Amino acid sequence: MPLMPLGVMLGVGTDFANRLRSIKEAGFPTMQLSRPPDEWLAEPRRAKLAQLIEDSGIEVTSVAAIYDGESYADVETVRRTVGLLPEETRAARVADTKLCADFTHEVGAPNVSSHIGYIPEDRVDPGYGALVSALQEICDYLERRKMNFCLETGQESGQLLSQFIRDVDRENLKVNFDPANMIMYGTGDPIDALALLAPWVRGVHCKDGEWPKAEGQLGEEKPLGEGQVGIERFIAKLQEIGYEGPLTIEREIPGDQQMRDFVRAKKLLEGIKAKLDID
Ligand code: MG
Repeated sequence: MPLMPLGVMLGVGTDFANRLRSIKEAGFPTMQLSRPPDEWLAEPRRAKLAQLIEDSGIEVTSVAAIYDGESYADVETVRRTVGLLPEETRAARVADTKLCADFTHEVGAPNVSSHIGYIPEDRVDPGYGALVSALQEICDYLERRKMNFCLETGQESGQLLSQFIRDVDRENLKVNFDPANMIMYGTGDPIDALALLAPWVRGVHCKDGEWPKAEGQLGEEKPLGEGQVGIERFIAKLQEIGYEGPLTIEREIPGDQQMRDFVRAKKLLEGIKAKLDID
């Protein structure tokens, strides 16, 4: 495998077999998956899904735990519905993360990743301690299979995330760094945050986006190269910190346009890698 092999973030669902074929034909050696819907995690579909993935020859580098009832409509809705912060769903979602981890292990991927929700800035906030405990439980479960849990960046500053990682105090707690999220959530310059989080980065999303236009809103996601991340400086910074893992293209739109954007982003990244002499 070359340094920084390219990949895509792929949802499991309708037409998955065809989409997998398109990804393979486009020449992607790696992919991250999102947690398959329940009907795909039950037999006999589960075994069929694992077989499809194995037959594709594409390496799964991570599976993203996503949860029922989440919405990314605006900052307030994210705070209320996303990840492990909402108390009423926390225990069920921790259990679901373990189910997701079992599937991840079956397809041979080393990482489960997720947005865990807004980490409270105040360490004495009860939500902060609850998130620390939830992450310790999940990390301990994953450790038995020699797997990592990767925190998806975006909803907090690099400073806060690094403090949180130290407080959870588990060797297998890592980071999936998404530079576009930091911009879209308005949490800070992603390149500065990447330098701070370098020791923990095990995966990245190559995604682009714009800063929020108004308080309480989220910025808009853009095709790679058309937002405000500065994707070349992002890849150069990854090279500088010694990152060699996959570059996973994420494009959060459905259908054929997503595939077209994957292919365009691949060309862009191949050009940047050649220019920076990464192979
Ligand atoms: Mg992402």
